[in-house]
Amino acid sequence: MISKGNKLYSILKIKCPQCHEGAFLERKVYDFSAFTKVRKSCPNCGLNYHVEPSFYYGSMYVAYALGVAIMVAMVILNFLLFEAFSFLRTFGMVVGAVITTAPLMNAIAKIIWANFFFHYKPKWKK
Ligand SMILES: [Zn+2]
Repeated sequence: MISKGNKLYSILKIKCPQCHEGAFLERKVYDFSAFTKVRKSCPNCGLNYHVEPSFYYGSMYVAYALGVAIMVAMVILNFLLFEAFSFLRTFGMVVGAVITTAPLMNAIAKIIWANFFFHYKPKWKK
């Protein structure tokens, strides 16, 4: 379906943006001992994930966009599931969705941010 070389592959699998094989995060997404901590470099191709200090602060813009997308999705879902609109129910759904998906959205935001700057190289060299 989505093969290596496509940025979606790196984003959805949370893999190295350069080789699409190495791990991007220290631990799994919902492992709270290292909350979406990005590795120093790719264990497969050696790409330095931290090109400058505070590099991933910019991923907050991506996380904000993802949060807005979740909010819009919850509002649409609320209109589809229930006949009468309720602000409190919609607000509860948005808060619940944002809290339960926060680690995943944080990780996705970071890998999207990394994919803005790093590009796939099928035959990488160390
Ligand atoms: Zn790599």
